[in-house]
Amino acid sequence: MSFKIEIGAVNSGAGSSENSYQLVIAGGGPAALSAAIYAARYGIKHLVVESWQPGGQAALTAEIENYPGFSSVAGSDLTNAMKQQATAAGAVFVMETVESAEEKNGKILIKTDLGQYTSDYLIIATGAAPATLGVPGEEKYYGRGVSFCATCDAPFFKGKKAIVVGGGDSAVKEALHLTHVVSELGLVHRRDKLRAEPYLAKKLVEHEKVTTWWNSHLVEVTGDDQGVTGVILDTPEGRKHIETNGVFLYVGTVPATEPFKSLVDLDGKKAVVTRNIVGTSNPRVFAAGDVTNNGFRQVVTAVSEGARASAAIFELLENEE
Ligand SMILES: Cc1cc2nc3c(=O)[nH]c(=O)nc-3n(C[C@H](O)[C@H](O)[C@H](O)COP(=O)(O)OP(=O)(O)OC[C@H]3O[C@@H](n4cnc5c(N)ncnc54)[C@H](O)[C@@H]3O)c2cc1C
Repeated sequence: MSFKIEIGAVNSGAGSSENSYQLVIAGGGPAALSAAIYAARYGIKHLVVESWQPGGQAALTAEIENYPGFSSVAGSDLTNAMKQQATAAGAVFVMETVESAEEKNGKILIKTDLGQYTSDYLIIATGAAPATLGVPGEEKYYGRGVSFCATCDAPFFKGKKAIVVGGGDSAVKEALHLTHVVSELGLVHRRDKLRAEPYLAKKLVEHEKVTTWWNSHLVEVTGDDQGVTGVILDTPEGRKHIETNGVFLYVGTVPATEPFKSLVDLDGKKAVVTRNIVGTSNPRVFAAGDVTNNGFRQVVTAVSEGARASAAIFELLENEE
């Protein structure tokens, strides 16, 4: 459910009507929060449109150990601090979902589930959502044993068995988080080694609770009316049924670009194609963070791109005057 809330002071700017802005920032994760801090400080009349709550994927991460300035920080603490900083600078947020964006009369028309806004410029910072495997049982048992967020759901698996599917940084970090609560953890990866940071990967595969399933694929999630009871894996030794209570999936992400597909060029993976880091195929539209094809998907790159996008728009607005 979505409802309209305005958080933060309404800043002054050049727009004339209530729903007209110099800049709309779509999304509320680290990229958008950074863009909002810079936009507010530049005095750009802006609006941040976030569908749920600011923080994005980073807020759902138990610990971040690679963001400069913090040897370890809870993702939600880091993004709450960004949000507070943005609000203190004068950033304005609404809790709405962008449903479409198009060009109209030289402006960008942004329609949400609750209203519509026109803007001179748009920053797409809607990030990415977890990819699914599309195997039987995955959707059926979502929320009843299947999860995309160990940080959120780990307490439900205290003393139980779980498996994690994936081999990147997110899979390994979240698997390590699960080792604190589960009795046994299986790690299923389609290759014969992990792509994650070597330090974390070593820590995980050497953990006493962890069993690894290399070169293996999850082909089905099995269960009963209570929830997940196991998984079926294709392994080099053949098909195996493994008992488990929880299945945590980290098999990639899909950029949240559906509302913008007619406004900017997307690549084959639905990411916004960028030029000069934050520019897009549309001169009035910029993009920042995990929604782009820039590759390295981290908080530090998202905040950098958000800042760059607002700075580029500030310069364009200055030159228009
Ligand atoms: C499990 C896990 C662990 C991670 N660990 C680390 C780590 O240790 N260090 C690190 O640097 N990075 C880590 N990352 C990656 C990091 O979280 C992301 O790179 C970062 O959050 C990207 O920020 P973003 O603002 O681009 O997008 P997101 O964080 O995805 O935020 C996008 C926001 O846009 C909103 N949104 C989407 N569609 C719409 C719409 N149509 N209308 C309005 N709002 C919309 C979403 O609700 C969301 O809040 C991790 C990610 C995961 C999943």
